[in-house]
Amino acid sequence: MALHLFNTMSSRIEEFQPLRDNEVRMYACGPTVYDYGHIGNFRTFVAVDLLYRYLRQSGYSVRYVMNITDVDDKIIRNAARDGVSVRQFTAKYETAFVEDSALINIETPKFVRATENIPQMAEFVSRLVEKNLAYRTEDGSYYFRIAKFPEYGKLSKKDFKGMQDGARVDVDEYEKDSARDFALWKAPKPGEASWDSAIGPGRPGWHLECSVMSMQELGESFDLHAGGEDLIFPHHENEIAQSESLTGKMFAHFWFHARFLLVEGEKMSKSLGNFFTLRDLVLKGHKPSSIRYLLTSVPYRNQLNFTFDGLKQAAVSVERLRNFRLRLTAGNFAGGSTSAMQALAAETVTRMRAALDDDLNTAQAQAAIFEMVRQANAAFDSGGIKKDDVPPLLAALSKFDEIFAVLDDDDAAKMKRVFDWAPTEGRDKDISEVLRDAAQSGQLSDADIEKKIAAMKSARAARDFKASDALRAELAAVGILVEITKDGIRWRRK
Ligand code: AMP
Ligand code: ZN
Repeated sequence: MALHLFNTMSSRIEEFQPLRDNEVRMYACGPTVYDYGHIGNFRTFVAVDLLYRYLRQSGYSVRYVMNITDVDDKIIRNAARDGVSVRQFTAKYETAFVEDSALINIETPKFVRATENIPQMAEFVSRLVEKNLAYRTEDGSYYFRIAKFPEYGKLSKKDFKGMQDGARVDVDEYEKDSARDFALWKAPKPGEASWDSAIGPGRPGWHLECSVMSMQELGESFDLHAGGEDLIFPHHENEIAQSESLTGKMFAHFWFHARFLLVEGEKMSKSLGNFFTLRDLVLKGHKPSSIRYLLTSVPYRNQLNFTFDGLKQAAVSVERLRNFRLRLTAGNFAGGSTSAMQALAAETVTRMRAALDDDLNTAQAQAAIFEMVRQANAAFDSGGIKKDDVPPLLAALSKFDEIFAVLDDDDAAKMKRVFDWAPTEGRDKDISEVLRDAAQSGQLSDADIEKKIAAMKSARAARDFKASDALRAELAAVGILVEITKDGIRWRRK
């Protein structure tokens, strides 16, 4: 089976075929950098990361672009409130976004920034005006003329036919030709940050940014455009209207939307006290890998209900996978192979691919790997795994991890970074005991620990148990637990 994806435009699951040969050009709407990202944002970004990784695993060469919205009303307001420039203000949160993405192993797309593409946006508006698709209002703002795009509503399936120009809303009050016309370019209000441009001073509207930057990077028609489901209307609908009316071509082929995340069954909101940034969860002592695993455990079109119980279960799942890999790498196996394990590894890879080909059914892919772990663990205990079974089993795990990215244990080092950040924002009081312990063990990288384990192994081989015990105690002091078993030496962070 080839990859099939739900396309919001057709409301159907379709076979995914790139427009050009083997190359996939995809664009995801990125963050508006005015605050730390919350887990809802990262639910969407992880979903897109998974899609990106899977496209690559499927053999495509992928050009993946994401915008950083570094100018909008909130940014301008908050920067003024803090008495800093827009650039200073957004730089902080852009860095935070990049760090948070790395925390949960989101691969870095090519970033494009709104403020670095102002002349191109002004030019785009001029072209729309030339074609009478946009108009200028008295204050120097520009609006898109929706009446000129009869297909308006085709993505969100909203019916605008009954609406007449200027209907329902007092046109004068809004200074628009039509109630639905949207701002392409906003003239500055007194004291507001603005940019000079060929169409006058002001700043780009959010919809304009994405149209201009995506087409600039990927061409007038590209393969896939992604975001959270809240972006379908009006953001993506407006992007389509302005892009397609200008070029006369289809803008994006596939529209990919991740469903909103709930927290403990409710919409996340600051007033309900169920609003969490990624860093809030790490401060509470949760591992980045557990967070990533939980965010991937529900297919992107299903509602993900984030709960702390779920987060604990995710941690257990990741631990099981890591322990299994350790068993395989540290174990001593008799020579030869078994047809059962060879078949199990091959079937698991096939099942994972089939699940992901089916509109990225991550839950099924995870079920497939756990079935392999269950059967292989049982075989392990009865000597049913031979030396040559190990590589295919490990290869299946790697295939899984190319997408899910939770197997490498770098949680403690990452948690240490959040631990170090907390006092810089007055969050010391929110540091949990668990985070404190993890940060301590995070002082040693995996490579440092492996070196000490190797030294322990040679000490034991030379029957120098005193030296081995000293190394073990040294590791224990920074929260690394070392277990000596008949299969070899294993370690884990507390
Ligand atoms: P923003 O920074 O608000 O523009 O949002 C960045 C991305 O996060 C967009 O793709 C939104 O659709 C998405 N998003 C915001 N809230 C949630 C949520 N609760 N669940 C899933 N995605 C969300
Ligand atoms: Zn966008």
